[in-house]
Amino acid sequence: MKDSYGREVNYLRLSITDRCNLRCKYCMPEGGIEKLEHDAILSLEEIDEIVGEFVELGINKVRLTGGEPLVRNGIISLIEKISRHSGITDLALTTNGIHLKAMAKDLKNAGLTRINVSLDSLNDKKYATMTRGGKLQDVLEGIEMAKKVGLTPIKLNVVLIGGFNDDEVENFVALTKDESIDVRFIELMPIGEVASWSLHNFLSNDYVLKKVPSLRKITASEPASPAAYYQLPGGKGRVGLISPISCKFCDTCNRIRLTSEGQLKYCLHSNEEFDLRTVLRNKGSLREIIEHSISQKPLEHSIEEGNFVSKNMVQVGG
Ligand code: SAM
Ligand code: SF4
Repeated sequence: MKDSYGREVNYLRLSITDRCNLRCKYCMPEGGIEKLEHDAILSLEEIDEIVGEFVELGINKVRLTGGEPLVRNGIISLIEKISRHSGITDLALTTNGIHLKAMAKDLKNAGLTRINVSLDSLNDKKYATMTRGGKLQDVLEGIEMAKKVGLTPIKLNVVLIGGFNDDEVENFVALTKDESIDVRFIELMPIGEVASWSLHNFLSNDYVLKKVPSLRKITASEPASPAAYYQLPGGKGRVGLISPISCKFCDTCNRIRLTSEGQLKYCLHSNEEFDLRTVLRNKGSLREIIEHSISQKPLEHSIEEGNFVSKNMVQVGG
């Protein structure tokens, strides 16, 4: 599927729930978000039917996200269903890692290829503060289990937050020295909760290069990756910098998103949505609405001009 600017769209990010077992300060309000009616959320069968249509249209890479995907009932059977679509060559998942230790083996057996784990601090007190109650040890044990069962290569996602984890950059980078793990720093995006945060919290990813000047740029093997990759001299892993604010990567964007409510978004930073759930339930043409939405995909986002998305990441699907 090509969009109107000739970009090949082959990557679907699928939010399977807007619920979460954590309350990260930049993503969720303290009291959580309003619960959706059961019927407002796509069923597992509906998700699978929509994925089938996407695969026919050329999607070959699928990532499950949320909310926290591991709290969705039936996730293992959903992965089994999705992995049966022979057009999919990469089926990945992004998680906070809390339930990973218990679920890694079943996820792997169901057909999941690999995982990204979000981890913003290596200090248990700071981790608990930012996630409003998460236990760092659970995540670390989850990562170990994921390695053991072969949900690899593992990528750690670290949102860089001024005054919170800017003093941990060297420690995160050091994880890539002896292990073939990717640590990716992500710039804090002014979405939902964060739109009102102080500018003091926003740090450009250049900060990582200033803190660790020995990092050397390398060529990424994945051409459409939003990350610019670096390596420590002799390092086994990689350090990725994902910089949606200071350095757009829209010209190679290959992705499209589906929310847990069945709304298709052609860009994370747009408020525009296309209602696939209604089309599906009214037995309309999914293909038509998908093709139409892709034809509307903009050349680039404009968050730096103050066009912020009003929903939180947990609702959009990060
Ligand atoms: N619960 C899972 C997790 O935390 O990995 C998946 C969903 S979460 C919304 C996906 C990613 O979005 C996480 O890595 C999280 O850190 C990131 N995220 C959420 N809000 C963000 C923001 N305002 N700016 C940058 N990244 C954000
Ligand atoms: Fe939950 Fe992930 Fe959002 Fe944290 S970032 S509140 S773990 S959805």
